[in-house]
Amino acid sequence: MKGLLYYGKDELKFSNEIPRPKITHPEEVLIKVHWCGICGTDLLEYVKGPVFFDKVGPHGHPISGIRLPQTMGHELSGEIVEIGSDVAKIRSDLNIGDNVVCEPTNYCKDKKRWPESDSSLRALKTGTSECEACRLGLTNLCEDNGLFGLGVHNGGLAEYIVVAAHHIVKVPSFVPLDCAALVQPLSVSYHAFRVNDFKEGSSALIIGAGAIGLGCILAANAFDASKVVCSEPAKIRREQAEKFGVTPFNPMDYRSNEEAIRELKKLSPGGSGFDYAFDCSGLPITFNTGLAALKPRGTLVNLAIWPHKPIDFYPMAMTSGEKRITGSMCYTIEDFEGIIDCMAKGKMPIEHLREFITKKVPIEDGVEGGFIDLIKNKDIHIKILISPMTENGEITEEGYIEEQQ
Ligand SMILES: [Zn+2]
Ligand SMILES: [Zn+2]
Repeated sequence: MKGLLYYGKDELKFSNEIPRPKITHPEEVLIKVHWCGICGTDLLEYVKGPVFFDKVGPHGHPISGIRLPQTMGHELSGEIVEIGSDVAKIRSDLNIGDNVVCEPTNYCKDKKRWPESDSSLRALKTGTSECEACRLGLTNLCEDNGLFGLGVHNGGLAEYIVVAAHHIVKVPSFVPLDCAALVQPLSVSYHAFRVNDFKEGSSALIIGAGAIGLGCILAANAFDASKVVCSEPAKIRREQAEKFGVTPFNPMDYRSNEEAIRELKKLSPGGSGFDYAFDCSGLPITFNTGLAALKPRGTLVNLAIWPHKPIDFYPMAMTSGEKRITGSMCYTIEDFEGIIDCMAKGKMPIEHLREFITKKVPIEDGVEGGFIDLIKNKDIHIKILISPMTENGEITEEGYIEEQQ
C-alpha cells in the first residue's frame, strides 16, 4: 500500500510497497484512511526529530516493541473495512462501512495487544497493569503514553491502519470525512475548556491564532462564551480568527506590554479582565500577559508546549488576584465525542471547520506538497490534509471531487 514512512530526521519517504497492516489482536479493527492531517508535532519530527520517536529504542517502542520505519500521521478519518473477532463484545456499535476517527494515544490498556513489549513484560513482573492516571481515566496522562504515527505503531499517513476498537469514535453521516480529520487537532483545544469547567457566559482571551488557538475560538463558541478576544501579532492569522466572530487584538500596536494589557482588559466585559486566558503561544510574555489580563479569580490555562527553561514569573501576580494557573494536556476520547456532539448540535458549524483546511495533497506528493510547503508557509496554512485515496497522483476521495464541482 501507499504511505509516508518515517526513518528519522529529514527522512520521510513515500513508498508504494508498504505491506497492508493486518489485525493481530481480536479487539482491533482495520480502517481505510480517507484523510490525514499533518500536525506541528509531525513537522517537528521531520525537522528536528526524533522527539516522540526517540522512545523507539533497540527493543522498539516500549508499549508495542515496534521499530522504525513507521508510517506517520495521527489526525485521520476513514471507514472500517474489517473487524476483529472480539470487537462485538466490547463495541457492538461498530460495523464495517462506518465512518470513524481515532483517538491516537496508546496507554496502559493497549499493552495487552503486544504482550512481548518492554512495558508489558514490566507490568507482568510488577503486577501493575495500569498506572495511576489510567486508573483515574486520565489516559492522556498515562505514564507510558505514546501516539500511533509517532512511534507506538504505524499511523494514518497510509492507505490502511489497524487501531484497537476502544480508540474509535463514530462519525455521523452529516460530517464530511475531510472535516472529521480535524476532530483530533480540535480536541486539544476542546479539552482545555472541558477540564477547566468553562461555563456558559464566561469570557475568554485566546493568545495565539495558530491551529490550537483557532481551535480554542471554536471551542469558546461551542461553550457559549460571552466574549472572545484573540491576541495575535501576525495579520493573516488575526484575519483568520476574525472570521470566527472574535475580537482581534494586535499586541504590537502598543508601545509597552503594560499598555497592551490595559487595552486588552478594556475589551473584556465590564473592562475588569477575562474569566479565562488560554495561552497557545508559550512565550514568557504571553504567559505573563494572560495572567495579568484575568479578572480576580480568573484562570490561566497553558496549552503550549514549552522548552525545558524556567521563566520570570512573580507569584504575587497570581496570589493578589486569587488567580489560578493550570495546564491542559492533549485529550481523551471524551473530547472526540464532545466535538462530534457539538457538530451534531450545530455548535461547531461545518463551514467553520472547512476554513481550517487550507490545502489537500495526494499522498504521493505528501513530503513536498505537504510537509515542506507547511514548513515554508507556516503562516498561510492552518491544516494541510493528505489523502491516500489517489489514482495517478490525483485525489479520488469523493468529498474532494464534490467540492471541486
Ligand atoms: Zn498532533
Ligand atoms: Zn497508564
